[in-house]
Amino acid sequence: MAWSLLVRGGSVIDGSGAPARRADVAVERDRIAAVAPGLSGPADRVIDASGKVVAPGFIDMHSHSDLFYFACPSAESKVRQGVTTEVVGMCSFSQAPLRADQREIIRGWAGGIGASLDLRWETFAQYLDALRAVKPTVNVAHFVGHGALRIAAMGFEARPALADDLKGMQRLLGEAMDAGAFGFSTGLVYAPSAYSNTDELIALAKTMAARGGYYFSHIRGESSMLLDSINEAIRIGEEGGVGVQISHVKASGKENWPKIDAALRLFETARARGVDVLGDVYPYNAGSTKLDNMMPTWAHDGGIAKLLERLADRATRRRIVEECLIDGERWGTVSQGGIGFDQVFIATCRRRELEGLHLAQIARQAGLAPAEVLMNLLLEEKCTVGMVSFSQSIENVAKVLAHPALMIGSDSIPLYEGEGDRPGKPHPRTYGTFPRVLGEYARERRIFSLETAVHKMTGMAAGRIGLRERGLVQPGYFADLTVFDPATVKDESTYPEPHRYPTGIPYVVVNGTVVVDDSRMNARGTGRILTPA
Ligand SMILES: [Zn+2]
Repeated sequence: MAWSLLVRGGSVIDGSGAPARRADVAVERDRIAAVAPGLSGPADRVIDASGKVVAPGFIDMHSHSDLFYFACPSAESKVRQGVTTEVVGMCSFSQAPLRADQREIIRGWAGGIGASLDLRWETFAQYLDALRAVKPTVNVAHFVGHGALRIAAMGFEARPALADDLKGMQRLLGEAMDAGAFGFSTGLVYAPSAYSNTDELIALAKTMAARGGYYFSHIRGESSMLLDSINEAIRIGEEGGVGVQISHVKASGKENWPKIDAALRLFETARARGVDVLGDVYPYNAGSTKLDNMMPTWAHDGGIAKLLERLADRATRRRIVEECLIDGERWGTVSQGGIGFDQVFIATCRRRELEGLHLAQIARQAGLAPAEVLMNLLLEEKCTVGMVSFSQSIENVAKVLAHPALMIGSDSIPLYEGEGDRPGKPHPRTYGTFPRVLGEYARERRIFSLETAVHKMTGMAAGRIGLRERGLVQPGYFADLTVFDPATVKDESTYPEPHRYPTGIPYVVVNGTVVVDDSRMNARGTGRILTPA
């Protein structure tokens, strides 16, 4: 018989954590048909993988690409890293459910930094149909954002949910699960998710416990509140009866760096008593989010329009500065911890001349205090500014990556395609997360074996949310494959020059189609919207 694809002569790292072995991989249509040494043709297509590793396609456990698929369904900046599946709808953000009278609120909340929000739908099912129609190149496992549930059920309000509000959220969560959501996510530093209390989240978790949903948590604080916040997430999982994933595990703010060991111990003690808690991490010591998240959560009450009103009001500006300015030179919020103005860089902004500059530089140029520049910029640009901030320790990043409860999630925001000049200075994790784990952390620093690195981005991730027949190189599994050169694989994207694809990943296969071919994008539209088992 003829295979549709034969990947010959490679070293197979199958994603289970098992040692590499020499084997050929035969593909028949969208499935792996055989994995064994010495497989012969004929085959419609043969890829010579000698000297290379053949791994399952990588699974990005935490991505914000859902806000960008409608503008960039090719997802090239993700696919070129070897990623074949993304887990999205993270940090409380999703574009559905959506009440027809709230489109502008959603646009201000989830849009703003180049996101492509279509918003023609209302239900989560309609939204997923629209996403299917644009055909992302990668497979998509979608969560529903707690912020979207809350806005639809009770508006963008800074108050606890009442009984009826909660019922509304539970109904919408149930509908999203029926449509194919894997669970819900919070962003407890982002309004309006941040306005919820623990009981609200436990009640939501209980709603989906019987159907095997997961709770993915951007926790309430990653700086001074780190340990309490991890404990809260674990409690929500434990009392709600669902698996809990702690997103982009980190300790923000220098004074909190030493807490990372205690944070990792919280995973271990909870797991020891049977709680299903795991986490994900990106391999960088800088984070990235919208610049308006430098404002306290109370200032977001009512949405972006209200925030802009407050930023135009002198007395409110004074109150914000009094609350956030530390020793006249650092800015402190729950989400970031204390951070210097020279550690906060403009990533994306309509005023392109500001991209790549830090707030202290912009303040010097303007002859103003950095806090004033920060608030002026948000006001003038209507909060459509993205930032990169250096608030973490490099040593901690390696420690978290190496921990057995942690897998890989890029937390990347935009998507890009093509070659040449592109706008913005996005966080390099946008282009480099997975090759950086393989090159920098497995090959160069040897914090774990290549097999462990691959497991954390394939089999472990698929097992985490029960992705059927994905995440392993095994007969019968879907043919999502990444072929990389273990000696050269490397992230090329840097903070000053982010728009660079990685090297050493010549072939990527999605559902049996060779999408990256000899390091070039060669096919699109190959992904599927995945649904829970
Ligand atoms: Zn987050």
